[in-house]
Amino acid sequence: MTLNGSGQYESFDAIVIGGGPAGSSAAYKLASEGRSVLLLEKANFPRFHIGESMVPYLSRLLEMMGVSEKVQEAHFVRKSGVEFFATHNDDLRRQNFSNLAEGQSKRTYNLNRARFDKVLLDHARDTGAKVLQQADVKKILFDGERVAGVEYQYQGQRHEARAPYVVDASGRAGLISKHFNHRIMNHKLENVAVYQHFTDVVPENNPGVQGDVIFSSHKEGWLWGIPIEADVFSVGAVMPLSLLKQSNPKDMFKKHTDRAPRIKQAIEGATPTFENPKVELDFCYYTEQFAGPGYFMVGDAACFVDPLFSGGVFLSMTCGMKAAEAILDISKGKDEQEAYKHFDNFCKTGYDSYFRVVYAFYYEFDRDMNRMGLELPGGFRFVLQTFAGDFWADQDQPVMEYLRSKEEWATFKKPFDMVYDCPIYPDNHYRAADLANLTPVDDFLQSLPTDAKVEDKVLVGVGSRQSGIGSFGKNFSQGLINLFGFVK
Ligand SMILES: Cc1cc2nc3c(=O)[nH]c(=O)nc-3n(C[C@H](O)[C@H](O)[C@H](O)COP(=O)(O)OP(=O)(O)OC[C@H]3O[C@@H](n4cnc5c(N)ncnc54)[C@H](O)[C@@H]3O)c2cc1C
Repeated sequence: MTLNGSGQYESFDAIVIGGGPAGSSAAYKLASEGRSVLLLEKANFPRFHIGESMVPYLSRLLEMMGVSEKVQEAHFVRKSGVEFFATHNDDLRRQNFSNLAEGQSKRTYNLNRARFDKVLLDHARDTGAKVLQQADVKKILFDGERVAGVEYQYQGQRHEARAPYVVDASGRAGLISKHFNHRIMNHKLENVAVYQHFTDVVPENNPGVQGDVIFSSHKEGWLWGIPIEADVFSVGAVMPLSLLKQSNPKDMFKKHTDRAPRIKQAIEGATPTFENPKVELDFCYYTEQFAGPGYFMVGDAACFVDPLFSGGVFLSMTCGMKAAEAILDISKGKDEQEAYKHFDNFCKTGYDSYFRVVYAFYYEFDRDMNRMGLELPGGFRFVLQTFAGDFWADQDQPVMEYLRSKEEWATFKKPFDMVYDCPIYPDNHYRAADLANLTPVDDFLQSLPTDAKVEDKVLVGVGSRQSGIGSFGKNFSQGLINLFGFVK
């Protein structure tokens, strides 16, 4: 296994570079089907990572990976909704995941990524993957034009491993993408994030529902407030790079946090963890080619989109699983080129869809999430479903159909075949065909007064509610209750 000119190497069915959510998902899937897989991770887990708010569709994905129980046992913060506050018009609303289609999980998580990523990595190892930490991949190895293995540094020595397939899940490092010069920066979204963690948070200071993400937008950007532990909040301000260049991260973070009254309230008296807020530059990039001879690229190694809708981890894991499925399909006789093509189409559909939702926020709805909920075609259920992770939506899903009609929002320049096949809820989701039976949009959107205290209670019982598409009683939106949130 040690190089030292001995020519020795270890062979596997697949090698995965990077043990973040994308890499662990790919390694888990391959190992679960009895394939030999080597996962090489540079860091020693648990390690810090930003990216903590999850979409609801993640819950089902965790079940599909058999890791749901382990995640539950780790007691991450459960999330049943998100509140959106637009400072320019004081419009506050709550998106309540209980309005998702029957059969879908109505809750997801906010994750302390250091702990979560370790749960996933351990799960891959427990399933049979060979996991090496503090194993730094230094070089991609080729057999002619084909990727054939890696060279890595581990315990002070160089090693070589070979496999017919290498999955690059190295995150922003993007080893294969950079090797081939495949990474393309997205100049439509030149934003940066400046963020901080706060400890000793007093839960009673939170003006909203415990567990909710507090989203706050203003004319120059937006902020996230994410409870990632009972007494820890992650706060981040996203803004144009050009704006940050006019000042410094510390001042900018304060200036922007001051514009988010509900986040400010939630972290009142709490202690910042980092001496200075951290900064994430190089925000959005993509690739025109997610796979090629002997390799697959997954997660941030391939593509990164503005974190606005919390889709990064979900997309990374879903594509990680798909890469593994492609490798398994090939081993069962599927044509290799076809497998690459399908994987490429799948990833492009997911990322293209997600980019479009992000563009809508910045370019059509003037950074107003509530207007998106009110004005996108099809009504609130489809908006909610889109935000929740419906990135491989049916062709006629109204929100995605509209967003996909915008030619100027296409991410990938080369034509590709869309994959209209939700890998998470193929059977349980709102369908355009049911639109006529659904209650009107305004049943779903009532503004919350900004001084209202939102209770962590589901006041079911006022109005009538049955389950299923189109079965919400008309009275349900009356009185103090609304389907977007619950107000005292
Ligand atoms: C500011 C910001 C906010 C975000 N907010 C959210 C959010 O709220 N919700 C959300 O879902 N997503 C969010 N994201 C995105 C999310 O963090 C990423 O999409 C996700 O972490 C990608 O997972 P990954 O496995 O592809 O990469 P990573 O999680 O980055 O994992 C890559 C791994 O590869 C390892 N590695 C790198 N180089 C090597 C090497 N040479 N050899 C071996 N190992 C190597 C690294 O150590 C790392 O552990 C956010 C991102 C940013 C920047």
